[in-house]
Amino acid sequence: MKKIIISLLAILIVIAGILLFNTFSLTSKQVAPESLEKLNIPETVFQNLSRAIQYRTISFSEDAIPDSTAFHGFHQFLADTFPLVHENLSLEKINEYSLLYKWEGSDASKKPIILMSHQDVVPVDQPTLKDWEAGPFEGKITDTHIIGRGTLDDKGSLMALMESVEKLLSESFTPSRTIYLAFGHDEEVGGPKGAAKIAAYLKEKGIHAAMTLDEGGFLAESMIPGIEKDVAMVNLAEKGFASFRLIVETRGGHSSAPPRENTIGMLAQAIVDLENNQLPYKLVEPINYQFKYMGAELPFLKKLAFANPWLFKSTILKGLNAHTTTAPTIIEGGVKNNVIPTVAEATINFRILPGETIESVKQHVENTVSDKIKVEAAGFLTNPSPVSGIDSEGFRILEKTIRSVFPEVVVVPGLIGGGTDARYFYDVSDDVYRFYPIRLGPESMSMFHGIDEKISKENYKEIIEFTYHLIRKFN
Ligand SMILES: [Zn+2]
Repeated sequence: MKKIIISLLAILIVIAGILLFNTFSLTSKQVAPESLEKLNIPETVFQNLSRAIQYRTISFSEDAIPDSTAFHGFHQFLADTFPLVHENLSLEKINEYSLLYKWEGSDASKKPIILMSHQDVVPVDQPTLKDWEAGPFEGKITDTHIIGRGTLDDKGSLMALMESVEKLLSESFTPSRTIYLAFGHDEEVGGPKGAAKIAAYLKEKGIHAAMTLDEGGFLAESMIPGIEKDVAMVNLAEKGFASFRLIVETRGGHSSAPPRENTIGMLAQAIVDLENNQLPYKLVEPINYQFKYMGAELPFLKKLAFANPWLFKSTILKGLNAHTTTAPTIIEGGVKNNVIPTVAEATINFRILPGETIESVKQHVENTVSDKIKVEAAGFLTNPSPVSGIDSEGFRILEKTIRSVFPEVVVVPGLIGGGTDARYFYDVSDDVYRFYPIRLGPESMSMFHGIDEKISKENYKEIIEFTYHLIRKFN
């Protein structure tokens, strides 16, 4: 008996030792900031953003034709507002509406970088208009904010890029490496005619960049429990996107004599089966980087958990949503209250974790639901993007710039659940990152694609400052 107690105690001591060793070995991954000169940004930048918002460059649907007046008007506005950019950079229009600016570098041996944004915005849900502080396309400037569709997603970053390049040109700055500014026009409907075509154009020209930077990462304010500092989420990859339609076809019948297997009941069961058999949580790249970068900044007990994924990963992975998610989004079936329908259909949307594929998710759906149910892919589908590394020069410069412009924030690389135009650029770029310093808190999260989208003047200046220093640092 005594022997058993002693050996149990020994095991506990060894486990505690491993836990503590790993916890103390997990040290901060943050690089030292460099002191930067504070930029003097004139108030006119707010008027410029306000005017950009007034062009209704809306993407309604994949098949809808872009509003040429709005897009051409926006292009002319850019030309009028940023004369130095239009004098010194070449501009290629791709598919009429997408813009590709090229700022030739002085050193042809250096790989270029690509800075992205998109011109289009999502429509405004008419019944929510009354909940806006000002008209979504009015471009109202208050004491503290610029209000309107696109201020956060994504004309804010587009305009910030243009402002910083214009400013650099006014200071006679010449980049040593070539810089491309790539502004698609249909990101909100998947980017097939904009960003995809820009990437194809670059590929055809044999251009290969060191780094591409796009939206899809933020400055998260009090979003991560345990970290008081703001967190710069630099996303290295994005999940894939796929929807599958479940179709149940039966002979139907009269509701007074229901068959044992009713069309709608079968469909409901299939949905329940999928929800009860979720795809597993996995510690894959880039989530492993998130464990290290985030874990090191956490208070002791949480840090202990992050430092010891072998014991605690399942809870953390759930918190990070690190699996392929399952979301029923559409259900249809039935026409009359006394008729059993012959057809019922449901659409289930999946956001696919890196390492899995559209095909493997389809397989999972087929294996999970009854084989009497037909499974068909529906609408837009894309596999998860590749995962960019954190050892590249591009990442080092990006992280250094973030830490220097915002010395109080911590950088955390990660994975984004939503899609961006950036996924098309892995083919023409060594690494692809998603980050602009848009400040997001628990309340402002809903403004993306939602009601009362607005950006604070302070934050807008920060984005200009960041893009300005980033371009300088790459040279
Ligand atoms: Zn966007």
